[in-house]
Amino acid sequence: MQDVPDKKAVPTTGVMIVSEADCQRLVGPDQAFEAVEAVFGAMARGDAYNFPVIREAIGHADALYGFKSGFDRASLTLGVKSGGYWPGNADKGHANHQSTIFLFNPDTGQLKAMVGGNYLTAVRTAAASSVSIAHLARNDARVLGMIGAGHQAQFQLRAAVEQRSFEQVVAWNPHPEMLPKLAAVAGEVGLPFHAVSAEEVGAQADVIITITSAFEPLLMADWVRPGTHLACMGTDTAGKQEIDAALTGRASVFTDEIAQSISIGEVQHAIATGMLTAGDITPIGAVINGTHPGRTSDDQITLFDGTGVGLQDLAVAAVAVRAATDADPKIVRL
Ligand code: NAD
Repeated sequence: MQDVPDKKAVPTTGVMIVSEADCQRLVGPDQAFEAVEAVFGAMARGDAYNFPVIREAIGHADALYGFKSGFDRASLTLGVKSGGYWPGNADKGHANHQSTIFLFNPDTGQLKAMVGGNYLTAVRTAAASSVSIAHLARNDARVLGMIGAGHQAQFQLRAAVEQRSFEQVVAWNPHPEMLPKLAAVAGEVGLPFHAVSAEEVGAQADVIITITSAFEPLLMADWVRPGTHLACMGTDTAGKQEIDAALTGRASVFTDEIAQSISIGEVQHAIATGMLTAGDITPIGAVINGTHPGRTSDDQITLFDGTGVGLQDLAVAAVAVRAATDADPKIVRL
């Protein structure tokens, strides 16, 4: 039987394609910050929610493939990020992490846009820790500590330095040969860079970002000073761990989404050992919305468990689509 066109159907304006290169041109750290801050606030108000995450080993090319999706009723952003991890890609000249974001019209379900997700994933992850620094770090923070020196770390550093008057970066990485690339980024943003031990990162830094794929703690509780803000960004899977569970247990803990934090975030280990309960964790959106005070003393250790939610991806993809619609007649429409 032939499809009969529905005369009452809402006319589509075409599907926009925003390439990786266009995303890099159109979405900077400032726009990502604004979009991620807004969606964290919407999540805490109950206006936006993430749907259950799917992640599967597909039994081909050693790949992990999945979906992160959600709906933000405040900005009317509906969509899904689809992608995963192909460990053999680097040998073929592609990034191992590959993703694409699809945005839909929430009134009709029609596909609105396909947006490259690789750059946006890095920029939205950096925006999340940057939002946490803006809302939770001491105002007099001057030393930025980095544990991790891979792809994400470079984005993290660039976004973090916008939030406080940092005077230097101290960094440690389990693979020291990766540090020069991070040092170059510090140079680009005009900050002195010192490669030190992990213990020295704890002793010197006011803000510490952890962004590795570690499965064992790299930063111990006794090494970190009172008043430090930690943004733990690398742990996004069951079993991964970057910091001592005792450090999580001692900190005031904030996160993007509590359910994800206790299952796949850094907090999973302190929960498993009974040092923390879900009730001890605050969504960072509550601080953004002013319904939670956030940091209440200069001695408090604050910890943001940034697990990475689909709504962050949709938020930055929506920025790319808006910017493309406003500014770029060359953007492809099908
Ligand atoms: P990358 O491969 O570019 O860098 C990996 C980093 O982890 C390097 O610092 C490396 O030295 C370190 N590392 C590798 N193997 C290790 C091990 N066995 N023990 C300790 N450290 C190890 O990766 P990337 O793209 O920079 O991602 C870093 C982490 O961030 C990954 O765990 C990734 O899954 C996670 N991530 C989180 C989010 C989020 O939203 N929270 C988003 C993207 C990536």
